[in-house]
Amino acid sequence: MIDSTASPVLDGHAIVAAKRKALRPSVETTHITVLVPVYDEADAINLFLARIYPILDSEGGTYTITFINDGSRDNTLGILLRASQLNPNISVINLTRNFGKEAALTAGLDQCDADAVIVMDVDLQDPPELIKPFVKNWRDGYDIVYGKRTARRTDSFLKRWTAKKFYKFFNSISNVEIPDNVGDFRLIDRRVVDAMGALKERNRFMKGLFAWVGYPAIAVPYERPQREAGKTKFGFGRLWNFALDGIFGFSTIPLKAWTYFGVLVAMGAIIYAAIVFVQTLMFGIDVPGYASLTIFILGLSSAQLISLGIIGEYLARLTLESKQRPNYLIEHHYKDDAS
Ligand code: UDP
Ligand code: MG
Repeated sequence: MIDSTASPVLDGHAIVAAKRKALRPSVETTHITVLVPVYDEADAINLFLARIYPILDSEGGTYTITFINDGSRDNTLGILLRASQLNPNISVINLTRNFGKEAALTAGLDQCDADAVIVMDVDLQDPPELIKPFVKNWRDGYDIVYGKRTARRTDSFLKRWTAKKFYKFFNSISNVEIPDNVGDFRLIDRRVVDAMGALKERNRFMKGLFAWVGYPAIAVPYERPQREAGKTKFGFGRLWNFALDGIFGFSTIPLKAWTYFGVLVAMGAIIYAAIVFVQTLMFGIDVPGYASLTIFILGLSSAQLISLGIIGEYLARLTLESKQRPNYLIEHHYKDDAS
């Protein structure tokens, strides 16, 4: 399962990892937290627990499974609290409403005090069996171990295609690079958790933030299976907003690009003016030209509207950031004695 091909030569990451290895806690004293955001997942929780218990039990050390209930409207909270009564290793952070997966993850990261944190979905699309190679690589000194999807046969063609194009575009215009085919499923070391906590922005595009903090990372390849129960919470509209958050949160190029576009248009206008000037000198004043004029006006005004829209996107985000609202509100953190 471990990807030995990911770093065939001793790169910078491997060198740092080799140094960090000695600093890892012993197996018996290690505490690992598994963070699981859940939104309307009543059907999936018990399937998830049944698969993950034996794996965590065989890991050595202690563990907590922290579910973040992201304002579920079904019986998710009831099922979680019941599970936490049966198993003291389960804790439940109950948010006051649905804040979205990114905010739910932020809440979980802010609350946990483990040596290493594993972030995963509840629907078993992130196979719990990967926890073993994740922890192994972490013990070998890597601070981030992420799952890399080798096949996404379970996703529709359209979703795969748009995802591929989006990340290609994102990487070309932003100054942090998101690895290909990588989701939130990963293990992160305590110091990465702390670094994430220091990023106070409200726009929580997690994949971008994970990439921004850096640290030695390694990939573990896996095949992404079908969702075990329930259905996806990310429809087209949500994915669209997700993509916009990523782009406007991590790149200012869309804002700057208009300057260059404006220069191009201005150059075109000067050339055209010169042509008209020469034409007028040679052939006198020409009345026709309404059609081309109308096309110019339409073209330029649509360009202006688009650029205004892009400024609006940044302005909207600035407005939200300046309000300094918290990313989430916790109703209660149900732990151990599950009250
Ligand atoms: N999720 C969440 N809040 C939301 C939407 C989703 O906590 O507003 C959780 C969801 O319960 C699941 C994970 O995020 O554990 C991934 O969601 P999903 O499986 O629907 O995404 P997909 O795999 O289709 O991209
Ligand atoms: Mg899923």
